Amino acid sequence: MTHKIIPVPAFDYFVFGATGDLAQRKLLPALYYRFIDGQIPQSARVIGCSRSKLDTPGYRQLAANAIRDQVKPDYLDAKLLEDFLSIISYQKIDVSDPESWCSFASVIEQTDQTNRVIVFYLSVAPSLFMPIINGLKQHNLHNNARLVVEKPLGLDLESAKNLNTILLDAFEEDRIYRIDHYLGKETVQNLMALRFANSLFEPLWNSRYIANVQITAAESIGMGGREEYYDKSGAMRDMVQNHLLQLLCLSAMEPPISYDANGIRDEKLKVLRSLQPYSGSDVGRNTVRGQYLSNDRHLSYQQEAKNPNSTTESYVAINVGINNWRWSGTPFYLRTGKRLRTNMTEISFEFRHVPHSIFGGLDTPTKPNAMVIRLQPDERIDLEIMTKEPGPGGMRLRQSILDATFDSKTNQSFRMPRAYERLLLDVVRGDQTLFMRGDEVEAAWAWVDPIIEAWQASGEAPETYEALSQGPAGAFELIAQAGHRWRTIQ
Ligand code: NAP
Repeated sequence: MTHKIIPVPAFDYFVFGATGDLAQRKLLPALYYRFIDGQIPQSARVIGCSRSKLDTPGYRQLAANAIRDQVKPDYLDAKLLEDFLSIISYQKIDVSDPESWCSFASVIEQTDQTNRVIVFYLSVAPSLFMPIINGLKQHNLHNNARLVVEKPLGLDLESAKNLNTILLDAFEEDRIYRIDHYLGKETVQNLMALRFANSLFEPLWNSRYIANVQITAAESIGMGGREEYYDKSGAMRDMVQNHLLQLLCLSAMEPPISYDANGIRDEKLKVLRSLQPYSGSDVGRNTVRGQYLSNDRHLSYQQEAKNPNSTTESYVAINVGINNWRWSGTPFYLRTGKRLRTNMTEISFEFRHVPHSIFGGLDTPTKPNAMVIRLQPDERIDLEIMTKEPGPGGMRLRQSILDATFDSKTNQSFRMPRAYERLLLDVVRGDQTLFMRGDEVEAAWAWVDPIIEAWQASGEAPETYEALSQGPAGAFELIAQAGHRWRTIQ
């Protein structure tokens, strides 16, 4: 085993939206995995809170089904599952109904909560944040508790500020956990280890040696049942404002003073404030919006959204400049889209060409080195380097890939944890390092808003692209202007 299990203290995790998709697909399985690892004490309590007419046995059945669906068979153990289910209960509540809050509060008041970490996880639509926070406040349930909120954290800067005001009215910043699950991925944390625990890369980590950085989050699915939300939101709000900018921040930030919440978040904020602002005609030059067409198996975006005139983007590519000493001159290309060739999320750092090739005249030209951090489908870190083709035949070069993920000797029995596992227990431990602070969220919106406004003002429809392709042609032109090429989505 390479991982170390440090049990967390007893907790009460109240999951609002307990019957929803997120709770069933991510939260319950993540808690189960950590339970079977021995990290969650048997005295912990997970309380599902939703409107559905269920009782505790009914909710345990739902949880058991969700876990059997999501957990790999090797980790399903009847006895451990039974033990895990025994810490789960259900509390019916309609959060919009004041009477429902009274009975909810009276049940909690009868429960002994001494020496427990209390967490309220809002796995519900953002329209329910306000009623829940008001309900918690009215019944004094918020005191000393921690609050977890999920994206979307606003639809623009103004709504994000309003949301922060609502959250801060009941909880101090150090009790608010804004989740971006990308930050819980092992490889993202490994990026920080590679950058800040090695002296090897730091001298190269700047515009002198890195020619461009590409951050791609491609999906082959369409809107997957989220049409109503997605058609109002689009790829920029759904993916760029949060996940892609967070990955950009971790890739570009200066070394923090220490690996702690405010050290990291201060540095990320500085990156967000250094982004080249785009508005008006800059937007047309530096961004591309796309929308997918139908093919023989899939509907087009407009058909799926049931909105034949929709101009919402299902794809975005942006050439982002960072105005600071380290990165001036190195473009960070962001790209995300639905109904692309395959599912692939990665960050690639492409280094500059060798200044002069002594291998001129050989059949294989040298390719620039790259460090590629894969977040999905398989989490890994690769170093692409040029080496000699082994054996006779003269000096022939080839590109080799070094696996820099983990030491293969100690990696034998390692189970790659899911992002939510780490994050859910970080809340109990009180560690906010991998969560977003309110000012970061606002800074990201402040950069994104003028781009969306310029798109709307232009009145232009997004460029179309073939379903399951590499994206719109305009995105390739965007990056070719600087002499770069997208990595293939594969
Ligand atoms: P969902 O499947 O629609 O679930 C919504 C939940 O809210 C249900 O459990 C529903 O319970 C509950 N609910 C609705 N109205 C309620 C009320 N008045 N009182 C109490 N409970 C109420 O949504 P989801 O996909 O789980 O997403 C939840 C949140 O997480 C959303 O903000 C979403 O954007 C965000 N998110 C989701 C994912 C994901 O993978 N699903 C990923 C990132 C972020 P009843 O049906 O029992 O009333």
